[in-house]
Amino acid sequence: MTAGVRTTCPYCGVGCGVVVGGNPSSPVVSGDPAHPANFGRLCSKGSALAETLSLEGRLLQPKVRGRTTEWPEALQAVADGFTRIIAEHGPEAVAFYVSGQLLTEDYYVANKFMKGFIGTANIDTNSRLCMSSAVSAHVRSFGEDVVPVGYEDLDAADLIVLVGSNTAWCHPVLFQRIVQTKERRPRLKIVLVDPRRTPTADIADLHLPLQPGSDVCLFNGLLNFLHERGAEDRAFTDAHTRDIEQALTAAHDTAGSIESTAKACGLQAADLLEFFGLFERTARVVTLFSQGVNQSSAGTDKANSIINCHLLTGRIGKPGAGPFSITGQPNAMGGREVGGLATTLAAHMDLSLAAHRDLVQGFWGSPRIASKPGLKAVDLFEAVHAGRVKAIWIAGTNPIVSMPNANRVRAALEGCELVVVSDCVAETDTTVHAHVLLPAATWGEKEGTVTNSDRTISRQRAFLPLPESAMPDWWIFCEVAKRMGFSEGFNFSSAHEIFVEHARLSTVGNDGTRAFDIGALGELTRAAYDALTPVRWPVRVAQGQSPAPMADGRFFHADGRARFIATIPRAPRHALDEEYPLALNTGRIRDQWHTMTRTGRAARLMSHAPEPFVDMHAEDALLARVRAGELVKITTRWGSMVARLRTSTEIARHSIFVPIHWNSLFSSNARVGALVNPVVDPVSGEPEFKHTPARVVPFVVAWQGFALSRKQLTIRDATAWSLALTATCWRYELAGRRVFGNWSPWARRMLDASAAQEDWIEYVDRGTGVYRAAHFIDGRLEACVFLSPRPDLPSRLWLAGLFQKPVLEPQERMALLIGAPIEAGVDAGETICSCFNVGRNTIAAKIQSAGLRSTAEIGQCLKAGTNCGSCLPELRGILSSLLADAAAVPGRDAEASMLKATA
Ligand code: SF4
Repeated sequence: MTAGVRTTCPYCGVGCGVVVGGNPSSPVVSGDPAHPANFGRLCSKGSALAETLSLEGRLLQPKVRGRTTEWPEALQAVADGFTRIIAEHGPEAVAFYVSGQLLTEDYYVANKFMKGFIGTANIDTNSRLCMSSAVSAHVRSFGEDVVPVGYEDLDAADLIVLVGSNTAWCHPVLFQRIVQTKERRPRLKIVLVDPRRTPTADIADLHLPLQPGSDVCLFNGLLNFLHERGAEDRAFTDAHTRDIEQALTAAHDTAGSIESTAKACGLQAADLLEFFGLFERTARVVTLFSQGVNQSSAGTDKANSIINCHLLTGRIGKPGAGPFSITGQPNAMGGREVGGLATTLAAHMDLSLAAHRDLVQGFWGSPRIASKPGLKAVDLFEAVHAGRVKAIWIAGTNPIVSMPNANRVRAALEGCELVVVSDCVAETDTTVHAHVLLPAATWGEKEGTVTNSDRTISRQRAFLPLPESAMPDWWIFCEVAKRMGFSEGFNFSSAHEIFVEHARLSTVGNDGTRAFDIGALGELTRAAYDALTPVRWPVRVAQGQSPAPMADGRFFHADGRARFIATIPRAPRHALDEEYPLALNTGRIRDQWHTMTRTGRAARLMSHAPEPFVDMHAEDALLARVRAGELVKITTRWGSMVARLRTSTEIARHSIFVPIHWNSLFSSNARVGALVNPVVDPVSGEPEFKHTPARVVPFVVAWQGFALSRKQLTIRDATAWSLALTATCWRYELAGRRVFGNWSPWARRMLDASAAQEDWIEYVDRGTGVYRAAHFIDGRLEACVFLSPRPDLPSRLWLAGLFQKPVLEPQERMALLIGAPIEAGVDAGETICSCFNVGRNTIAAKIQSAGLRSTAEIGQCLKAGTNCGSCLPELRGILSSLLADAAAVPGRDAEASMLKATA
């Protein structure tokens, strides 16, 4: 491996630069100090990238109907299948479903292939699920999908409003940047608008736990307040906007008073007033919003209601000010640039304009061009289910896990005539339904570019060879296109050639009327492309790095003016009722990415949350007769799942939160997508992932338990299970209804220790139903299993630690049977700091024994929180809870006060 390859993190939309050094067998990943997105910092996921590079589980050879084959046969099978179905049923009978994980070059050729050569716009992407509402809002307000803010505006802002964004976990490096800015400039105020008290609340001066779905009401209330207080920038609105009166009327009619708005949003009037006053008084305001806004049946209106407030006050296109849609995926914005959505055209041109279609078709020299929008994600899989779409090519995404109503998506693929999947992972919920499987190259093996949330284009560079038959996605698309007779448009021999074509297209018919212009990159030589440093668009031919869009007050509608959009609050489509009294909210957790196909391979990333869980308010749990720590069943009208219950008072009443990550490889029954209603925003088509009526009931089992093993096990007779990789072994959480009079044969078979002469110990208590067993080879612990009718099971972390020992001492074997460590203090507890593997119990013990008073002191003693900083909110939470405990003990008030002041 070349030392010090500069590339870009493949996870979230922050788009951090990384440097990969070391050698191919042990690469070392660090943050790129020169990258403007992160200046050397990485979060827990980025820091663990080197641990995800093994070829285990990779798809490395093409397969046709389950048979391993070579590329020519697989490519021809795809080309023949698509050609036949198009000939018989027309181009609308085929579709691509692609991914924000693809590089811009991959996306460009896929979009060109479908829209320009097959001739339909049936190409949609998982970015539809994440930020298409923001795209629609940008187009409605600005005339083009343009983010008017850069990360440095967060450094310059005096007020940052975080709406529907758990930035601390979903965009951790950006969160740490905000934390540092606040430390440097304490006058910076942070307001968090979120129904949940997430770790992001850690830095908030004000948290507004609004009713789910009431965002439009909140921002209409703010618009009305600003107007009534005379806070509008009249010169700006007069010169640069339109339709202000309609928006003001709608705001007044729907949120005309503080009291009514507070009531509708479920907030205290005083808190609302404080927020409104802060916004009014602060010129430099950035409103950062994310999936909490976008993933709603009113997502586009929510985003527009935020943008309206910035337009009214002229706080846009200026340093430290503007609405900031932050993307979830690494290349969601790159996909938008190439027109990779079913509703867009390449280079930010307008699919509905014949003149734009002619420009693109002329540039491509293509035989045809799509003339109407294609099917958006939810409609697309519905069309597959109905048999209208008969061939689908899924690239780099796992819709059977990530789509709403995911069981119907599975049924759609089961019935589809031709399913092609290109992926880097051999077995996912989706790949098992593929007729043709195409092995795609992945991070570290591919060349190309990505565009992050603030329009910065960065290179992804290869530092590993292509393994076996894996090939880049752009190559796969091009080869199929050529076999379908489209050689002219797809004779690319490198990602570089594709990128310069994409850059040149951005100048076509663009005399400054479109912000997306990277014409200055259209003449890059191969060497210059290879050496490309991060650059933010626009980069126009005449100017190079160009002024920020909207800085001159000019927008991208034909008249150059922005539009106010009259927004009307709308409740989520499906109301709660007696049968389904809880609003299911879904989202990400700190150390996992999407469907875990990469992060699930890193033991330290699995250690933070090793099994599926649901968060619920403690009072709702009482009403539902479920208890923290036990398994529960979550049911909606669309599906059900099983998860471990966590209760707190930090989540809003009548709502629950479930992470999106678990899939069938990691858990028997925890695909939350199967529960999510397939309701979409009428403008953007983005699904309502944040609100599905649900109920929670006990998941009744006869026994619970877990098994730890050096090798993967075949689970038998468990009603529910989940799997996690630890640093020393595989961990299986188990629960079942079938009871055996004698557990021993069952346990021996599962742990692969059936032979009579095996070194096997076990403990049976028929009275209490407790069973423990362990299997050894040459004195080394190979596997163990612990069962009980109750969830009072031994520490998994303690037991996982025993796998490190070459031989277990007699007292350690005894401890296994007792189900408790001989020595106190060996259970580190749930992992809080993934970078240095520091557990909750270790942290709590150190805080108490050493009298630690700040996260800095914890860092000095235990290193926790000193690398990526992703765990700092949790460290502060542990300090705060110990503070509360200390305050409850007489005589410890002084110590408690001291802790409170410093936590
Ligand atoms: S914040 Fe973390 S996941 Fe996101 S790009 Fe940076 S290192 Fe990767």
